[in-house]
Amino acid sequence: MTTRVFDKIYKIELPIPFPLRTTNVFFVDEPPRTLVDTGIRTEASFEALKKGMEDIGFSFQSIERILITHGHIDHYGQAKRLSSLSGAPIYIHPKEYGRIRSIIHSLGFLKSILLMNGAPEALVNEAIRYIESAQKMADPLEEAYFLNEGDAVLFESMRWRTIHCPGHSPGLICFYWPEKKILFSGDHLLKEITPNPILAVSEYGPPFHYPSLKQYLASLEKNEGLEISLLLPGHGEEVKDVKGLIQKIFAHHRERMDLIYSILSKGEKTAFEIVMDLFPGVPPFEVFLGISEAVGHLEILREKEMVKVEERDGKDYYSLET
Ligand SMILES: [Zn+2]
Ligand SMILES: [Zn+2]
Repeated sequence: MTTRVFDKIYKIELPIPFPLRTTNVFFVDEPPRTLVDTGIRTEASFEALKKGMEDIGFSFQSIERILITHGHIDHYGQAKRLSSLSGAPIYIHPKEYGRIRSIIHSLGFLKSILLMNGAPEALVNEAIRYIESAQKMADPLEEAYFLNEGDAVLFESMRWRTIHCPGHSPGLICFYWPEKKILFSGDHLLKEITPNPILAVSEYGPPFHYPSLKQYLASLEKNEGLEISLLLPGHGEEVKDVKGLIQKIFAHHRERMDLIYSILSKGEKTAFEIVMDLFPGVPPFEVFLGISEAVGHLEILREKEMVKVEERDGKDYYSLET
């Protein structure tokens, strides 16, 4: 489905086989004609984009540039295919590029993080199988240009700015059009759900650090300084009250942190056990998201010297500082 969200900016919703159901991509009808994100690489997604562009009188050949907000399959999955059909160059933050090229190499790290945080082996294997199969819905990128914090994205009459917002993903970039106060946020800010600061599988290997949530909150603080009158997110509806949304997300994380702190007051736990307390019955493929959230908070509590961690038999146990 294609909706005109602002002047020359169109939102096209593409299907994904995950709970969020659709990904938003945006087509900007001003030279160089630009697609922001691409959706996953499935026939359903490809056909939906084709139809979405035809509805407004364009084809894949009309795409002259592809901007990728971050390296999750629902955002870059069909970038390579679209680029080869249109000849459009792909732009992405350098921190996402390495991950997209060699995601499979990071599965080993991912597995060790899950085990270290107390997830049972059978469940870890199931989660890894799920991620491996999901990865088939994306083509690895070979050629891409880099966009860093502050880089301009130029159109005939518009000048957007790249804003690096690490947290949900280490190299997530938003695109800001100051003149109209519009922000394309990818998964950094979404209307209905609190974006998960997903653990970046370490670029450096063990010992692992989990700065995702800390970075995410810092990115939010940076966004508070921006005037935004229209937010165009990677999933779901547009948002007008962005300051209100940011406050809601801050409040959510404060509550979560209090909850985790009170869970630990009953005794030491692994991050996995905390996840089971927070989200009983969570399906295996969401365990990693849960653990990301829990250890993000635990890392902050540890920095505040409210919580300590002790490694025993290859597992990290968290308890309150006394
Ligand atoms: Zn994402
Ligand atoms: Zn997404």
